[in-house]
Amino acid sequence: KFNALVLNRDDDENLSHAVEQLDESELPAEGDVLIAVEYSTVNYKDGLCFAGQRGLVKSYPHIPGIDFAGEVISSEDDRYSAGDKVILTGWRVGEVWWGGFAQRAKVKADWLVPLPKGLTTRDAMSVGTAGLTAMLSILTLEDRGLQKHDGEILLTGAGGGVGSIATALLAATGYEVTAMTGRPEIADYLTGLGAGTIIARADLEEETGRPMESARWAGCIDAVGGKILARVLTQMKPNATVAAVGNAGGNTLSTTVIPFLLRGIGLIGIDSASCPFARRVTAWSRIASDLPIDKLNDAVTVVGLADVPSHCADILEGQIQGRVLVDVNA
Ligand code: NAP
Repeated sequence: KFNALVLNRDDDENLSHAVEQLDESELPAEGDVLIAVEYSTVNYKDGLCFAGQRGLVKSYPHIPGIDFAGEVISSEDDRYSAGDKVILTGWRVGEVWWGGFAQRAKVKADWLVPLPKGLTTRDAMSVGTAGLTAMLSILTLEDRGLQKHDGEILLTGAGGGVGSIATALLAATGYEVTAMTGRPEIADYLTGLGAGTIIARADLEEETGRPMESARWAGCIDAVGGKILARVLTQMKPNATVAAVGNAGGNTLSTTVIPFLLRGIGLIGIDSASCPFARRVTAWSRIASDLPIDKLNDAVTVVGLADVPSHCADILEGQIQGRVLVDVNA
């Protein structure tokens, strides 16, 4: 038997949740690697699952949790064997497939990566999907030519999971970080992670109607979308790139082609969920080598399975600072 945070929906579509004891035989039969989960995390998408957002969870009872790290118990796939430490992110685990808010998970070997040398499973989930996405964004900016002396990199939604880890990663690598936040009270936290400059969300929220403004940003990792992304596009330096990661501030994007035509800027979407194996391995290896894990202490709150639902509500309200690490054995 193992503990799992189970989400249920009744005939009137009311959602409920409870920590329950399940049998390993109840895990999805299609998985080929059985894992003793050690840590998972709370992500924005988990918040949406608990809120009953359409298009995510397909059937109930369901175990949410879109990422986890743990130890292989048994594997029908040659690439893994008992005792291997592994990380899972993406592939709709925690949405259409049972996820990481449990002491056991059974998934496809293709979806895993080996834990890189130098990281523990706790470190890996302190970083989690949000941190992997931050690293994938940095790799994308670098693929487009970004170099350390190019100037300020703007991070929007900087106080959240993606923004916090991106701040720490970029600063540790030697980039100049400007963190945009709607919460002035977390400025010291962001400075501690390595942000050189803090700007208020309100500074970028205003719609000017101008197709271009003074060029300021050498790169941007945007977690919020909407009006802010539209404004940022008008302020990018020539040939600079925006990695579009999230929609915490809105789905729509109203813009013009002018900065694309006159400044050659790039807008590239980041999809961590179906990221190919080789790219995930590259990203995790860069995380292991670049990220000062000890700097993340202030960014990480550790909770047990029973506390997850309240943090899922908070993340939808933009109230999480950094990362919520779930110790499934707590
Ligand atoms: P998070 O911890 O909730 O952070 C989002 C941050 O955005 C908040 O902390 C807040 O930062 C800011 N924010 C919230 N509401 C806002 C609003 N109405 N307008 C402007 N800013 C707002 O979430 P996360 O885990 O970092 O994820 C960030 C986004 O990336 C989410 O949309 C998530 O779904 C997405 N995501 C995408 C991928 C991918 O593969 N593309 C992977 C992971 C996450 P401040 O308080 O500091 O302003």
